Amino acid sequence: SKAKLFDEKTDTRTSFKDVAGLEGAKEEVEEIVEFLKHPDKYTSLGGKIPKGALLVGPPGTGKTLLAKAVAGEAKVPFFSLSGSDFVEMFVGVGASRVRDLFKQAKDKSPAIIFIDEIDAIGRARGKNNFTGSNDERENTLNQLLTEMDGFGTNTNVIVLAATNRADVLDKALMRAGRFDRQIYVDLPDIRERKEIFEVHLRPIKTSEKLDLDFLARQTPGFSGADIANVCNEAALIAARKEKKAVSKQDFLDAVDRIVGGLEKKNKIIT
Ligand code: ATP
Repeated sequence: SKAKLFDEKTDTRTSFKDVAGLEGAKEEVEEIVEFLKHPDKYTSLGGKIPKGALLVGPPGTGKTLLAKAVAGEAKVPFFSLSGSDFVEMFVGVGASRVRDLFKQAKDKSPAIIFIDEIDAIGRARGKNNFTGSNDERENTLNQLLTEMDGFGTNTNVIVLAATNRADVLDKALMRAGRFDRQIYVDLPDIRERKEIFEVHLRPIKTSEKLDLDFLARQTPGFSGADIANVCNEAALIAARKEKKAVSKQDFLDAVDRIVGGLEKKNKIIT
């Protein structure tokens, strides 16, 4: 089968309105939107636009969503790949994949490149823990560093990378002129969970006015992805019962179901 190399989407649909909470992270990436939209303004005094930023945080907290929103807000194309693709699909050709990706993005610049799970390629040397060859991974990592170092002052491609393990990354990635900015994307607090519910309730037909504070209180430890999942599951539960709208009880049943799933997952890990 032919693996899809990377997505290129001129996706202007994702915007900051789709990202609930994460005020600090949003503020930091708003600056990147400005760099993409008005590069001349920032380079006119001799400053250099940053080439990369690392989004750091637990799974499902909105790192990919935020990167897409940056592209959407700046109205630039979004090129993405996942570090795990290199491990699973691109064995032997990692470096050339990176070269192709950067070439495509430069041809379409201004653009965003998003690298999910960068730790799969960017682990510190000598700390290999996947099945692929270490040389292969290092070649891929070196190509990534070479590409970022090779950006000219007017390239106007910004690379966002996501990880939940910044501590395992090769320090070379964080050097000045590479991923020298780190943006933290944490699990939502109760107020943010309420906001995330608001976003994901938009398309849902509910039979009563839901108490969002209550739902936020019922979901401690949930990520944004878990909350999106609750809303979707609640709609499916109601539909299965042939209901015309989703009730509070359907949401509570969905929360129980997701909690059950999370507990199972944790059992497997520990
Ligand atoms: P991973 O580390 O697993 O790749 P991630 O941090 O990239 O996760 P996303 O893929 O961005 O997480 O989140 C998955 C989905 O969860 C999003 O598409 C969105 O529906 C929902 N979601 C997560 N965080 C938020 C948020 N802050 N606001 C609104 N929706 C969110």
